[in-house]
Amino acid sequence: MGAPGGGKGTIAKKLLKDFKITAISTGNILRSHIIDKTPIGKEAESYVKDGKLVPDSVVLNILKQELDTKKGETILLDGFPRTPAQAEKLKEFFSVDVVVNLEVPHDVIADRMSQRWIHMASGRTYAYDYNPPKVKGLDDVTGEELEQRPDDKAEVVKARLVTYEAQKTPLLAHFRALEGCTVETFKGSESNVIYPEVKAFLSNTFQL
Ligand code: ADP
Repeated sequence: MGAPGGGKGTIAKKLLKDFKITAISTGNILRSHIIDKTPIGKEAESYVKDGKLVPDSVVLNILKQELDTKKGETILLDGFPRTPAQAEKLKEFFSVDVVVNLEVPHDVIADRMSQRWIHMASGRTYAYDYNPPKVKGLDDVTGEELEQRPDDKAEVVKARLVTYEAQKTPLLAHFRALEGCTVETFKGSESNVIYPEVKAFLSNTFQL
């Protein structure tokens, strides 16, 4: 868990390198549906653009489809669940062992969002301040142009942070009450500093 722009994606990417796990990012899946103009993409588009949450039924559907292709693997859920209702549903078909909760100050986030650029087709993300592309404005792998996500614009970011804060407390309460689930909070403003702590925690807690 972590606020939009708080480095959740960056931490997830590092975890994938260091551990034998598979990630499912509902945000990335939604974005590729939107690009491909699938029925799901058409339904989700206006919500994502405005920084609003996509209806639970839509997100649950894509999550279930993804999980079906990854049976028996250790999964890192990135961006799901986002609401207590999603968490309740998730309980019916997925067991959560650990919640990594990232707490990053909002003023740091607002600053960072303006630096974030993305290669839409693949979901590869760059930050001009700390992991810039090799050539400014272009994706390292395909050479295609990078774009700013419409929902990374300043006023939309604000709306997303408000939504995140509203859902965070009940979500954390849900996981704290969930049997067999550990919630660990990491505070800081830089992923490079937070990540080693997350890694050490997971290495010590799980044999991944
Ligand atoms: P961030 O964490 O930076 O907000 P994501 O890529 O995780 O970015 O999500 C982008 C957008 O996709 C969200 O603002 C929302 O519209 C939609 N979305 C992603 N995950 C969910 C979810 N679990 N429930 C509802 N909407 C979601």
